[in-house]
Amino acid sequence: MSEGGDTEPPISSDEMTRFAAAKGISGECALCGHNDWTISTGKEDRSGFIPIVDEHYQPSPLVAWHRPVILMTCRNCGNTVLLSEHVVRSWLDENPDQSVDDNE
Ligand SMILES: [Zn+2]
Repeated sequence: MSEGGDTEPPISSDEMTRFAAAKGISGECALCGHNDWTISTGKEDRSGFIPIVDEHYQPSPLVAWHRPVILMTCRNCGNTVLLSEHVVRSWLDENPDQSVDDNE
C-alpha cells in the first residue's frame, strides 16, 4: 500500500504533546494567548512542506527543494508556527513512549 519509499507514519497528536511537554513549549499562542491549535503535517493531513529557495533558484516544474515541517495554526487568530519535522521525529526516535511497553 506504500508508494515510493516515504512510508514514515505521520506524527500523532500524542507524540506532539509529548514533544511539546519535554521541550517546555507552552500551548499558549504567542499572539493571542489562546490554546487551541490545529496541527497539519500534510501526510494524510499531518505533514506539510515549505519551499526553500536561494539566490540561484530558477523556477522549474520538475525540481524543487523542500523541507518537511509541522504547521501549528492557532484556531483563534491564525498565527502559524512551523516546526522542523526532522527535529521532532529525531527526538521521538530517541525518546520512545515508555508508558507503552513498560506497563506489563
Ligand atoms: Zn492566536
